[in-house]
Amino acid sequence: DALRKPVKTLRVKMALLGSSGVGKSSLAIRFSKDQFSSTSPTVGCAYFTRMVHLSDVTFRFEIWDTAGQEKYHSITPLYYRGAHAVLLVYDISKRETFVRAQVWLKELEKQYIAGSTVIWLVGNKADLDTDRQVSTREGQSLANERGLFFMETSALSGDQVSELLLAIAHRVNECIG
Ligand code: GDP
Ligand code: MG
Repeated sequence: DALRKPVKTLRVKMALLGSSGVGKSSLAIRFSKDQFSSTSPTVGCAYFTRMVHLSDVTFRFEIWDTAGQEKYHSITPLYYRGAHAVLLVYDISKRETFVRAQVWLKELEKQYIAGSTVIWLVGNKADLDTDRQVSTREGQSLANERGLFFMETSALSGDQVSELLLAIAHRVNECIG
């Protein structure tokens, strides 16, 4: 109807970064299809999309997965250049992935982060709480220290996954909307 506000579409580039095995591909699949795949999805599609609607804005998320380059600790800057959101993912049940996330972070801060890029620290596999090696508090305080946003998710159960996408959409809307 004529009184409705015109719908605006924003394209959002999102890149996933983090050690091999933390669940980046599983998160990407969750983001795009709201499913969990138990077979390792690491090899295969490296690009997913998902539409998210928030009031009068439609967000077209373009989600980039690493297709395995992270194993060699060398990710081309092209991969996250121009991203509106970089998701720095670690596994809450593996401390070394949290340590490694801090190394990725240094690299991001040193070279490639543009003003409009927001980094989210994401503690995945929150369902493995009994095997937890990184507390929520520790994740949150690293994020606070370095000016990152923070969320714990489970690609397995889907817990906090749509919340994360919505929170990113809100932030992007504030910055570039
Ligand atoms: P990537 O190497 O970072 O892309 O990680 P994958 O998405 O390939 O996942 C690595 C392994 O962790 C696979 O066996 C997944 O099934 C498993 N996995 C991924 N996300 C979760 C999660 O949230 N909880 C649990 N328990 N396992 C997960
Ligand atoms: Mg993968």
